[in-house]
Amino acid sequence: SSSPSTKSHADNDILLDGLLSSGFDKGSCLSRYQSYLYRKVSPHKPSPYLISKLRSYEDLHTGCGPHTRAYKRTMVKLSRFKSNVTTGCQYIIWTYANGLGNRMVSMISAFLYAILTDRVLLVEFNDDMVDLFCEPFPNSTWILPKDFPFSEHKGHHFETYQNILKKDRENNSTEFLLPSVMHLNLQHTSHDHEKFFSCDHSQYLLHKVPLLILRSDQYFVPSLFMAPSFNQELNKMFPNKDTVFHHLGRYLFQPSNDVWGPIKRFYKAYMDKADEKIGIQIRVFNPNLTPYQTIMNQVLSCSQKHKILPDFATNISEVSPSNNQILKSVLVTSLYPEYGENLRTMYLNKPTVTGESIGVYQPSHEENQKFGDNLHNKKAWTDIYLLSLCDVLVTSALSTFGYVAQSLGGIKPWVLYKLIDAKVPDSPCVQDVSMEPCFHIPPKHDCKEKPLDDIGTTFPYMRRCVDFGSGIKLI
Ligand code: GDP
Repeated sequence: SSSPSTKSHADNDILLDGLLSSGFDKGSCLSRYQSYLYRKVSPHKPSPYLISKLRSYEDLHTGCGPHTRAYKRTMVKLSRFKSNVTTGCQYIIWTYANGLGNRMVSMISAFLYAILTDRVLLVEFNDDMVDLFCEPFPNSTWILPKDFPFSEHKGHHFETYQNILKKDRENNSTEFLLPSVMHLNLQHTSHDHEKFFSCDHSQYLLHKVPLLILRSDQYFVPSLFMAPSFNQELNKMFPNKDTVFHHLGRYLFQPSNDVWGPIKRFYKAYMDKADEKIGIQIRVFNPNLTPYQTIMNQVLSCSQKHKILPDFATNISEVSPSNNQILKSVLVTSLYPEYGENLRTMYLNKPTVTGESIGVYQPSHEENQKFGDNLHNKKAWTDIYLLSLCDVLVTSALSTFGYVAQSLGGIKPWVLYKLIDAKVPDSPCVQDVSMEPCFHIPPKHDCKEKPLDDIGTTFPYMRRCVDFGSGIKLI
C-alpha cells in the first residue's frame, strides 16, 4: 500500500492540482481518473481563486440545473412572463454552429461567461454530439432537457441581442422592456460589424435577461477580457492570461468512455514508447485550390527547418553511422490519407542525417467534413485529444481544431502559414506566441465607437494572431 504522502501526490496529479472536483463516480468517466497517466504534469497551475470559482459554479449548477425544482419553477415563470422578469437562477444555453473545434472554443467561452455572470450553462447537443464528453459537473447534468420550453425547433422566435441594442440606442432615456428570453448571436455575420459585447452597458442589459440562447462558433474569451466590469475577476482567476483554455478545457472536456478507449489504445500502440511525440495537424480549407504536393512540401520544409523532424541524408557519407536509438512518433491528423502515407513512405525510403527512427501514424482519414454524424465527431475528438498528448505540434493556420489541441496540451505550436497563390513561402511556419486560441472577429471599435487601432497597447495581454492578422489572442 502507498504511504499517505505518495497517495496525496497521486491524487493531486489525478485531479489536476485541484482543478477537478472529486465528487464523481469513477466508472462513468474513466478518462477523468486515467488521463494523468498519459499526459505530462502541466507546468501551469490553476490559481486558488479559479479553483474556488469552479467549486462555487458547481454548487450553482447543482442548485439550478435540470430536473431541480428551481429549474422547473424558472421555466414556468419565463413562459408566463415575457419581459422584465427576475429569477433566482439565470441560464445561458449553448447551441452549436460549425465543426467540433469551433464548438469547443465557443463552449469554453460560454462557460467562462457563465462563471462571470452567475449563469448556469446548459448545452443543446443533437445526436451527433452524444457521448463525446463526460458530464463535467458533479451530481447534475449540463445537457439541456428534451422538454426545454424555449427550443427554436418548437417554432419560438426570440428577441435578439442586436435588436435590443438598437432599441436601447433609439430611446436611451425611457426604460424599455427587456425580454425574459433572448437570442445572443456571437457568430461572424456579414451584416452586424460591431457587437459591443465587451461594453459594460451591454453587459448591464444582458444581466437583466434571465435566459440567453447563445449561438457562437467563436473563441470570444478575449472580448470578456476587454470588458471593464469583468476585469478584476478575470485577473484573480487567471494571473497568467494565456492559460484560460488550458485550465477550463481540461476541466470541461473529459473524453467519454466511448472515445477514451480508442485514445488509450492508439496512444499505447503508437506513441507511448517514443522519445518524442510530434503532432502534425493538416487542415486543408480549400482542397481544390491548394495542391496536395504543395502542402506536403510546406509541412516537410517547416518540420525540417525547425529541427522537428530530421533532414534526409543526400549522400551516403551524411548518414549517421551511430546506432542512434532515438524513436520519434509522428501523429498525423488530416481528413486525407495521403499526408500520413506519404510522410511515412519518405522516412522509410530515405536515411536521415541523425539516424533517428521516425514512425508515422494517422488514426483516421474521413475525406470530408461530415455534419450530423456522431462517429465522425468521435474520431475528430480522438484526433484532437491525441494531438494534445504530443510534445511538439505543427498546426494549420486558422483552424480551431488545432487551437483546441494546442491549448489542452499546453503547447505553443508551429503554425503553417495559410498559402497564398498555392506557393510555399520562404518561411513556411512560425511558432505561436501563446497556446491560447485566436479570436477571429474581435471588435474594431471601442464602446464610444472610436476605432481600436492598437489592441496590444490598449490591452497589454493581447496580440494579433500569427495566423490571422485581424484576430487577437491572449498571451
Ligand atoms: P476548423 O474548421 O479547422 O476550425 O475546425 P472544426 O473542428 O471546427 O471543423 C473541422 C471539422 O472537419 C472537424 O470538426 C472534423 O469534423 C473534420 N476534420 C478536419 N480535420 C480533421 C482531422 O484531422 N481529423 C478528423 N478526424 N476530422 C477532421
